[in-house]
Amino acid sequence: MLRLAIQKSGRLSEDSLNLIRECGISFLSASYKLKTEATNFPLEILYLRDDDIPGYVQDGVADLGIVGQNVLVEAGFPALEVEGLGFSKCRLSLAVPRAAAYDSVQDLQGVNIATSYPQILGAYLMERGVKANLHTISGSVEIAPSIGLAEAICDIVSSGSTLLGNGLREVETVFRSEAVLIANQNLSAEKKELLEQLQFRMQAVRRARR
Ligand code: ATP
Ligand code: ZN
Repeated sequence: MLRLAIQKSGRLSEDSLNLIRECGISFLSASYKLKTEATNFPLEILYLRDDDIPGYVQDGVADLGIVGQNVLVEAGFPALEVEGLGFSKCRLSLAVPRAAAYDSVQDLQGVNIATSYPQILGAYLMERGVKANLHTISGSVEIAPSIGLAEAICDIVSSGSTLLGNGLREVETVFRSEAVLIANQNLSAEKKELLEQLQFRMQAVRRARR
């Protein structure tokens, strides 16, 4: 039996469940449960916080997972990615206060930047030879400039309205993300076979949606 970890409640949850259902896999979903077993496919679904999914798949606690590439890469396990799923598209962007002068990423030299993505942002800045002071915070990153914690932020953006509402403007795209299917790298032959069946169905669902 394959164990698939998905986000318990959040922006990935509904699309992840819909994808599994559209693959013809039936299961009872009760939102208070931590796991459910499918009735017509050898699959168990685990409901977890998205941040925990890459580590659980890396360790083999779960065989498969559905998670944002942003969380996967930040966790340091990009090699677990099997395929993109086309939903939860968003970007990780740098933003500065609307009135701040900004010409290029070089202007961030020595600047305090608040983010929940220190690994991805650190690599981006290093490639460009910029040394900034990264302050890692886990939520409400966009208010950091207004409370004096940082002069810039790097956060997930989809429409940009949250940035505008906080008096910020987007100046650089650091990373583009979508939901991805991930898999443990040491699956047994039986599990690999099941993964292939699942991928085949997922690809058919995506073709049918186009
Ligand atoms: P958890 O409680 O599981 O830790 P969370 O608050 O960290 O949840 P969500 O806000 O539910 O996470 O976002 C989950 C993922 O959805 C993000 O990591 C990202 O890949 C994607 N995402 C985030 N914001 C958006 C958005 N505005 N539009 C589309 N996708 C987004
Ligand atoms: Zn999270």
